[in-house]
Amino acid sequence: MSGSSNHFDLLIIGSGPAGFTAAIYGTRGGLKTGLLGGAAPGGQLLNTTEIENFPGFETPVNGPDLMIHMLNQAKRLGTEVFQEDAVKVDFKASPFAVTGSSARIYTARAVIAATGARARWLGLPSEKKYLGKGVSGCATCDGFFYRGKEVCVVGGGDTAAEDALFLTKFASRVYLVHRRDQLRANFRLQEKLKAHPKIEIIYDSTPEEMLGDARLTSVKIKNVKTGAARELIVTGAFIAIGHTPETAIFEGRLKLDEAGYILTDGHTKTSLPGVFAAGDVMDRYYKQAVVAAGSGCMAAMEAEKYLENSK
Ligand SMILES: Cc1cc2nc3c(=O)[nH]c(=O)nc-3n(C[C@H](O)[C@H](O)[C@H](O)COP(=O)(O)OP(=O)(O)OC[C@H]3O[C@@H](n4cnc5c(N)ncnc54)[C@H](O)[C@@H]3O)c2cc1C
Repeated sequence: MSGSSNHFDLLIIGSGPAGFTAAIYGTRGGLKTGLLGGAAPGGQLLNTTEIENFPGFETPVNGPDLMIHMLNQAKRLGTEVFQEDAVKVDFKASPFAVTGSSARIYTARAVIAATGARARWLGLPSEKKYLGKGVSGCATCDGFFYRGKEVCVVGGGDTAAEDALFLTKFASRVYLVHRRDQLRANFRLQEKLKAHPKIEIIYDSTPEEMLGDARLTSVKIKNVKTGAARELIVTGAFIAIGHTPETAIFEGRLKLDEAGYILTDGHTKTSLPGVFAAGDVMDRYYKQAVVAAGSGCMAAMEAEKYLENSK
């Protein structure tokens, strides 16, 4: 089996910062490392232009450029990157088997799941048009660009509430637009929101259209009860309606939490020995590239230790 070109010591599923960092550490740790990265490897940062908070770049780095560097770094060190999705995993016995969308079967004694999480969007065509030009899925990433500007946050849960509060550090005014008549965010956060002089909560309302020219200039919202329309003059719209972890192929094979994130022990170990998880697929809270990369490093180091101890 170990002579087969489809057999690896370590197989990584996913091609964002977590997957590529795991690949870099795996190959540098002397492991024969393969990575299934999907048709367009690079992860969520392919959808963004300026990244200002990834260490190592004095001036903002373009998302796709950063990911190409990670891909090339992993390849240069010896990782074999396959541009296809993992469509099935068989973790019943070692070596584990992973089937790609080409029907090719890959085997490995250790696997790292780094498939990420998809930000949920409203689904408006105009939202897509202004993505990266005023529309954002990440207040931590982009809030800094809105110093002195008016912005809105869409959502009503803890993330939306935290994003709205975070944005008050920069923005002159923050509208929190929620489709129901009460927020889902916890009581403490709700108290803070209601007391904040920069925040206006707009209940029972949903965005109808994002408007602008080259960049976003306003968001048209509609009251779902009265039908009344209102235009918010904002240059930033932060969509905070949740994420969907990419864990369909792991269902029934690894323990997931109620939202579908892979459960780990704090050291990237999943419920199954030999299978590790890194990045947004196991991280409900931070969802930052540098955190994903850090956990990719941890997962590869844990995989190395596991392979060493289970020889
Ligand atoms: C618009 C936007 C802007 C952002 N800006 C910033 C920022 O400025 N700074 C920051 O720190 N963070 C930013 N983030 C968050 C950051 O992108 C994520 O935290 C980070 O990319 C998570 O990395 P990851 O490796 O866990 O997963 P991802 O980046 O989600 O990558 C996972 C990859 O795995 C692939 N995959 C999924 N399933 C399979 C499968 N079955 N087989 C093979 N491959 C699969 C996916 O296609 C994807 O390419 C931003 C996110 C978005 C959406």
